[in-house]
Amino acid sequence: MKIFTTRRQIREYLSAQNPATVGFVPTMGALHNGHLSLIAQAKQGSNIVVCSIFVNPTQFNDPKDLENYPRPIEADIAKLEQAGCDVLFNPAVTEMYDANEQWHLNIGPLEHLLEGEFRPGHYQGVTQVVYKLLDIVKPDTLYMGQKDYQQIMVVNRMIELMDMPVKMVMCPIEREADGLAMSSRNIHLSPADRQHALVLSKTLNRIKSNFDIDNIPQLQQQAMEMLKAENDVQPEYFEIVDGETLLPAGKDSTTIVALTAARVGKTRLIDNVLIK
Ligand code: AMP
Repeated sequence: MKIFTTRRQIREYLSAQNPATVGFVPTMGALHNGHLSLIAQAKQGSNIVVCSIFVNPTQFNDPKDLENYPRPIEADIAKLEQAGCDVLFNPAVTEMYDANEQWHLNIGPLEHLLEGEFRPGHYQGVTQVVYKLLDIVKPDTLYMGQKDYQQIMVVNRMIELMDMPVKMVMCPIEREADGLAMSSRNIHLSPADRQHALVLSKTLNRIKSNFDIDNIPQLQQQAMEMLKAENDVQPEYFEIVDGETLLPAGKDSTTIVALTAARVGKTRLIDNVLIK
């Protein structure tokens, strides 16, 4: 696997290779099988697979969360080699941002809904870094996880607004055997938290099973009660929304998704399930 840390090197390498198709998997590292499933899917659809590992400071609204974010780069490199990734882009913050750089993209209501309400500025940071990475790698296809469902909607909106020539592929959520969605943040869970965290996927599955029985306000209330009843779990939201707009689901919604975020001990986790 080729490893580059500067924009110039990776641009020169990719233009010299001139592959027919480039698949791109952006990550913040601390790789797990969820990330590796994206690499596997990218390998099936592209001649060259590029992965980036960059803990993007502009998408963190909590400086402690940024500081504590795991950065096991040697283990990540070994996992990517094993997965058959062709190129890793692992820049420093100074390579990606000028001091005091400003950015604002009008992505409409998506910015302030759900995650946006609890993580102010998060999606501006996401659009900023994904825009820069797409401009550097110029992939044909971008592979992102359903785990961050709203992030996919936000990046799709940016691609549309900026008229970028890239296709998005949404990859399914990889879970542990007991249902917990894989996440780089799971390593912060104590053994007790790890058990309490199962309530997120259990609640999502329960609501999916009851979808044809109860109405949406009833389901949302049941879900919040189930989450609150678990020790050391503090839910931030549980919403059943239209899968395209993320606004309240209606009769004409062709896609419906249930999304949740909760603090489990000191760790903030998110999860979701496609209902329809
Ligand atoms: P992150 O490193 O958390 O920014 O995630 C990088 C990419 O991996 C994003 O597109 C995520 O949605 C995706 N991802 C994270 N966790 C999972 C998972 N459990 N299953 C599938 N994809 C995931």
